[in-house]
Amino acid sequence: LINADGTIGETIYGQMTALAANTGAVNLGQGAPGTDAPAELINAAADAMRDGFNQYAPGQGFPALLEAVAQQRSQDFGHEVSPQHVLYTCGATEGLTAAILALLPQGGTVLAFEPFYDSYPAAIAAAGGSLVTVPILPTVEGGFAPDWASFDEAVTAPGRLPSIILINTPHNPTGFMFSAQDLARIGDAAVAADAWVLTDEVYEQLVLDGTPHVAPAVAIEDSARVVTVSSAGKSWNTTGWKIGWVIAEPEVREAIQSVKQFLTFTASGPLQVGLARTLSGASTFVAENRSSLQQRADVLVPACRAVPGAIASTPAAGYFTVVDFSALTDLDAFELNDLLARRYSIVGIPVPALCRAGSPAHAAYRSSIRYSFCKSAADVARGAQLFDDLA
Ligand code: PMP
Ligand code: GLN
Repeated sequence: LINADGTIGETIYGQMTALAANTGAVNLGQGAPGTDAPAELINAAADAMRDGFNQYAPGQGFPALLEAVAQQRSQDFGHEVSPQHVLYTCGATEGLTAAILALLPQGGTVLAFEPFYDSYPAAIAAAGGSLVTVPILPTVEGGFAPDWASFDEAVTAPGRLPSIILINTPHNPTGFMFSAQDLARIGDAAVAADAWVLTDEVYEQLVLDGTPHVAPAVAIEDSARVVTVSSAGKSWNTTGWKIGWVIAEPEVREAIQSVKQFLTFTASGPLQVGLARTLSGASTFVAENRSSLQQRADVLVPACRAVPGAIASTPAAGYFTVVDFSALTDLDAFELNDLLARRYSIVGIPVPALCRAGSPAHAAYRSSIRYSFCKSAADVARGAQLFDDLA
């Protein structure tokens, strides 16, 4: 197991969950929702079990799910695909790993934006490839932006052109959302380098400031080179169900499926059917989840900001605020997180744990900690109170 920073061992999420448990601190670390899945969805899954969907699902996923995902892409993002483009995967994590294993040549390079979800470097290492990164950095206006000069350099590096450009939008942990223009630029670079564009859109539904999510497959003209990955975990508070999907041209989808069949073969059969039935109904849950997340962000972010010198981001989307403590302390994010856990009962995720050791992003986020506001309202309120006390 290779962590983002190159160390080997348990993921940062597992480590920080243990730190919270051992210290009795409020756990604002792992992006695991503290509010439950809606009853309508749970009932639909229970009905699917009672209806007998309890054995292996088809390798591509249940047709009803493939149909529901194709419809959702079209309705929400104008991404027109057929069920033949869609593959069920065991969460976005398996979709990303299967796509990387299927599409990356031995010794090939993946360009990813940094900080990044920690499964990326492990999947790339498993595929025998190497990772180059482009930082997403805080801007003077209080937002975040990719370092485009570094991007331009990486996509034209002689002898090291990326075979895959991996984009996470909305981005974990910053909430940065790539615009249509950004994506067109990435698409042009992908054409020039003859690279795949692999996306990770797990926060696609959780836009907080009203800026629409732009699906890379829609903004990029040569959409045949785009492989879209997303999942239901974040939108539906079902991270334990592990229902994700890959969307690609049918022959690309087949290639990814041929790898996926030897990873898990298939999983979550009745849950796939329950989700399919709910997605094709008239549920208002995702919109409610969005406003509930906004309310919890509105409790946590101002409390972080009340700490003199702390700079807390206003997330455009997703589950997290990134708080930069560098004006307050010389401690790095790991030391500070540990101190805050033991002395002030608050645990987050040190952002450098989502960066490669020695990278520009690692340095820029040296004293930054990510806090999740997807936790229960009570935990978010407790976290906010603890920050108020600290202030
Ligand atoms: N990508 C990102 C950016 C994430 O934050 C996460 C964690 N939820 C995942 C992928 C994994 O998604 P899943 O649980 O569907 O595998
Ligand atoms: N994606 C979640 C996060 O960023 C964690 C998922 C995991 O624990 N693997 O917090």
